[in-house]
Amino acid sequence: MLTLKDQSLLKTRNFIDGEWVAGGAGTIDVTNPANGDLVTKTANGDAADAARAVEAAAEAFKTWSRTPAKQRAVLLRKWFNLLMENAEDLGAIMTAEQGKPLFESIGEIGYGASFIEYYAEECKRYKGDTIPTISNDRRLQTYKQPVGVVGCITPWNFPNAMIGRKAGPALAAGCTIVIKPATETPLSALAMCDLADRAGIPKGVINVVAGSNSREIGKVLTQHEKISKFTFTGSTPVGKKLMEQCSTGVKKVSLELGGNAPFIVFDDADIDAAVADCMGTKFRNCGQTCVCTNRIYVQEGIAGEFTAKLKDAIEALRVGDGFDANTTTGPLVNETAVNDMRAFVEDAASKGAKVLTGGGTHELGHCFFEPTLVTDITGDMRVANEEIFGPIAAVQTFKTEDEVIERANDTEYGLAAYYFTRDVGRVIRVAERLEYGIVCSNSGVFSTEVAPFGGWKQSGIGSEGGKEGIAEYFETKFHSMGGIE
Ligand code: NAP
Repeated sequence: MLTLKDQSLLKTRNFIDGEWVAGGAGTIDVTNPANGDLVTKTANGDAADAARAVEAAAEAFKTWSRTPAKQRAVLLRKWFNLLMENAEDLGAIMTAEQGKPLFESIGEIGYGASFIEYYAEECKRYKGDTIPTISNDRRLQTYKQPVGVVGCITPWNFPNAMIGRKAGPALAAGCTIVIKPATETPLSALAMCDLADRAGIPKGVINVVAGSNSREIGKVLTQHEKISKFTFTGSTPVGKKLMEQCSTGVKKVSLELGGNAPFIVFDDADIDAAVADCMGTKFRNCGQTCVCTNRIYVQEGIAGEFTAKLKDAIEALRVGDGFDANTTTGPLVNETAVNDMRAFVEDAASKGAKVLTGGGTHELGHCFFEPTLVTDITGDMRVANEEIFGPIAAVQTFKTEDEVIERANDTEYGLAAYYFTRDVGRVIRVAERLEYGIVCSNSGVFSTEVAPFGGWKQSGIGSEGGKEGIAEYFETKFHSMGGIE
């Protein structure tokens, strides 16, 4: 039994038009990946629930879109405050359904909330232009108007922050939203909604339809005539399918998809700093983030020292239940993910890779996998090409700057890239040549609400965060005014 300071945050029904409602498809079992225990049963929504939520959001849009930005900002600020005041409970809900260590969950609550705070401020400043006229009898202006009802689908790896990054700017812009969270993690989304309701955000403005029939709910959120914009975070194959669905109604689309981040260590780097940030970017959330280090490239001269230090750091990780204060690394999200990790290691080992530490299911069982280090990676191995999404560090070596840039760019993905060097010229050269939406030199930490986060190539379309993040939720209207003279 999950015990919270405010037990009423554990919601077990969907939130549609300001009401907590049962799901048309019965219930979903939400389980804790650390032990398989049932956390709670919650509403399993269906396509009809999703359609009802879209209708409610369309009705709410009529007044929310005309509510002055300053007033919307006050309500969003109240929502932000409530999220922060309840961060411990929200973190506990997340750890129970997703597995990440409690300190990471609580950190995510602050990160997700920061987008709501930022866009509450930003929406008061977002404005159109007055354009110098082309003749004296005319005046030219642009207006920025909210795009309409937003359909939103989010993944399980960041059950709170992916909603904050979308609902924050959407609501700030004057849009209303229908959210379908991942089946594994509906509780975080529902608790966020409860706090939005308590903040006074009007009914219908934010709706959550959790449901395991994601295909049917997804069709409604991409194809309903009253949806104007669709935003998705998740895997690239699913993103492509949803984009195709959106094309029938020419909906606006934002996609935050998969990654295959290179982590490059040049021989002039601060090796200790590189190891520390490699650990952070590789093993945070048990390796289950879209910006996780995926391909580690180390220049030949320092490969031995780097790998030895990385091995020590990996062996110092404490695998366990996310509620245990000593835990640094929680479970994977489900048993399928554990099997995927085993297959990655077997594939690499069968092609000549060396497993320096880990490599198998953890003795804790359930969804736990050993933090793993593999070396001697070659281009034909799956770990060199696919998004691993788990706690396996795979190290390759390289000789020259040109070579490593070419190898780093040789992927259909383009989300985040990291590199370590003390050469200031190289810092700039490499940043300019990497084909990624986010390049991060001499640090593994970059994510903030004030800067754009988005992928190139098949890692996505559009950005979240910064001034770019709210632009996604506005239409531009050009007003040509004649008859002035
Ligand atoms: P996923 O399988 O694509 O699922 C993500 C969401 O899409 C879930 O809510 C899922 O619902 C739903 N979904 C799945 N199939 C669907 C369909 N046919 N129609 C409509 N909805 C569908 O991704 P995941 O494995 O959960 O998440 C990991 C992926 O997300 C990784 O590739 C990661 O890189 C990416 N990601 C990207 C970012 C970014 O900002 N770029 C951030 C985080 C994660 P159900 O749970 O009900 O199946």
